[in-house]
Formats: sequence, structure tokens, C-alpha cells
Amino acid sequence: MAVLDIVRMGHPVLREVASPYPLAEIGTSTFTKIVADMRDTLHASGGIGLAAPQVNIPYQLAVIEISNTSSRYGEIPALPFSVYVNPILTVIDVAVAGYWEGCLSVPGMMGYVERPQHVQVDYLDENGAAQTMILKGFLATVFQHEFDHLQGHLYVDRLKDPALFAFDAEYRQFHQGDRQELAD
Ligand code: ZN
Repeated sequence: MAVLDIVRMGHPVLREVASPYPLAEIGTSTFTKIVADMRDTLHASGGIGLAAPQVNIPYQLAVIEISNTSSRYGEIPALPFSVYVNPILTVIDVAVAGYWEGCLSVPGMMGYVERPQHVQVDYLDENGAAQTMILKGFLATVFQHEFDHLQGHLYVDRLKDPALFAFDAEYRQFHQGDRQELAD
């Protein structure tokens, strides 16, 4: 187990389309170690999601965990630690809602982003089994943020308004409470 270095905006790996994770490698010791290290890194960072490119692993792999101690997220249901391999996200309803988002690869900043709030995710779990989830509201935003990382996108590409992009301190001073937030 190990806490991995998180790469920051400007590192080319964050702008590449990640490769599909090789199916034959799901469940191998290499895979298990990557997942364990990403879990340790997620926990050490205090985030709620981490995509493999953020730790310089250019594959379509992400982990998400929302604990019910995350009171900052209000009434959001807890989501146990889960692994998403080669996910495909489909928008079910294009109606959007916005949250202030943060990103471990863009430390110290927050930005307001609007995204569709009803999506479907098809993916392989850590055992290689095909799964489907329907996500609404905040969770729909969380999954879009994470899976954007697998396509070379960062939330800063999707800011609603450049004026709604702020350092943490200015966010807290001038914007917090205006809208809901997501930090991952
Ligand atoms: Zn991120």
C-alpha cells in the first residue's frame, strides 16, 4: 500500500484520453496494487474520487467513495468505496444543475460548473463484472467529474463563467453558500 503523488494541471497525462484498462489484467496483482494505492491516495487526500490519470496511470480506471461523515455534502447518501473500470457515461436527461467543484489536480481552486443531473454509467467492477448505475443530482456531477479525467478533461474546461473560478479563500469569503459544492 502506498500513497501516490497526484499530478497537477499542466501535466500532459491529464490531457490525454486514457487507454481502456486491459480486461485480462483485472484481478491481477498489478491491478490489485493500483486499486489499493489509489484507495490510500484518496483517503490521504480527503477527496471523494480519484481517476488513474491523476496518479499518472493513463488507463480508464477511477475510484469513488463518499462517506456519511462528509457533512459538507449535506444530505448526499454515502457511497462505499467502488472501482470503475472502462466506464461509459450516458446522459439520460440534459437538464443541468451547478455545483462548485474542486479537484485534487487543481489544488487551492474552486469553480462553478453546470452538468446534467441524470446519467447512466456502464462499467466493469473490480471483479471484472459488468455493472450499470443510474445517478441523479450531486452524484451525477461527481461521476461526470471523475470520468472527465479519463477523457483528458478538467472541470476548468467547463466553467459556467470565468468569474466563478476562485482561490479557496476567496471562494469561502465571497461565494460559499451561494451554491452547493463538490471537492474531489
Ligand atoms: Zn478532479
